[in-house]
Amino acid sequence: MPPMRVCYACDRTFESPRARCDCGEPLWRPIEPLVEWPTASDSRSVWRYDAVLPASQPAGDLEAGGAAVWRSHSLEGYAGTRVWLADEGRNPTGSFKDRGSAVGVAATLEAGIDRVGTVSHGNMARSVAAHAAAVGIDCTVLVPADIAEERIRAIARFDPQIVRVRGDYGRLYYDALELGRRHGIQFLNSDVPLRVAGQKTLVFDLLERVPSLDAIVLPVSSGGNASAVWKGLLELRAGGLLESLPRLYLTQAAACDPIVVAFRSGRERVDPAANVNETVAYSIANADPPSGTRALAAVRDTDGAVLSVDDDAILEAQDRLARDAGVRVEPASATTLAGLRRLTERGEIDADETVTCVLTGRGYGGGGDVPMTPIVDCEDLESVLESR
Ligand SMILES: [Zn+2]
Repeated sequence: MPPMRVCYACDRTFESPRARCDCGEPLWRPIEPLVEWPTASDSRSVWRYDAVLPASQPAGDLEAGGAAVWRSHSLEGYAGTRVWLADEGRNPTGSFKDRGSAVGVAATLEAGIDRVGTVSHGNMARSVAAHAAAVGIDCTVLVPADIAEERIRAIARFDPQIVRVRGDYGRLYYDALELGRRHGIQFLNSDVPLRVAGQKTLVFDLLERVPSLDAIVLPVSSGGNASAVWKGLLELRAGGLLESLPRLYLTQAAACDPIVVAFRSGRERVDPAANVNETVAYSIANADPPSGTRALAAVRDTDGAVLSVDDDAILEAQDRLARDAGVRVEPASATTLAGLRRLTERGEIDADETVTCVLTGRGYGGGGDVPMTPIVDCEDLESVLESR
């Protein structure tokens, strides 16, 4: 039997389902080589790849995954290269988190545990709560005390137990894992092994559908999804379906970019951000990413890079995605197109390369004010249409 958990950094193995290694780094499940692509008739959801997942599809599952992936000719001039878009916003609750929630909830059910939890006040909270509701198990969501009302409402729709917690929210991420063990709650936090196991299916979707993929551009927050993309690539290579790994480029908002700081200075470890400012890309503004060092390792292993983009560039890219490509995304997702533009300008990505920008989610709306248009009388309508 393979070990239950492996450390990517020091190769230590563990026979219990713990989340962290003695060296401090996050653990993941052992590399599970994907040796053949599923047949055409198989599911398009995450369960398409169940040969390398730790659970089977449960009754009531929401069919997460199966990203819409297409080539965007209209953005090529702006991006400076052959660009494909992967729209994870079409998942059941509008974000990439649904892949990890689906697999995490299914594995929890199979382990005979009837309660999941998470520490989140955004996409992940909604995602875990929805997937728990779908398969009929309990869910506990720990949110910060000062959470905005619209966020509580979006999570509460799925009827989880919501606990507003006062104190150090960053530390709660770790405390929750320990509390969960004592109280029979499987916490599916951003980078835990079961979540990474589901998130990795994104890269299978990309490699199965985008021909000759040279690079992937992905927003990075906790580093959990970047870790999952890396693990998926390693599993494809181990199974003989991929010869060389596409380069992984990670994007952060300039206002909060601790992984960029470590990358630029050639450091091995990501330290908490010293200076953090407000950014429109708040959903990736993670000052102390729990899998930041692992994300850095992923980038170096694939010859990629980590870069930051400022809010003006993010909003411009968000606007381009909507106007030129017809996709509405949250600002965090738009960092990918903004970052890609920067990379082609700098010559790190060539015009004839094939690159996929992963649009991780839709968000809560907002993202720039749209002016109210004037009212026109019926009889003036024709002249207005002519003037466009
Ligand atoms: Zn270790």
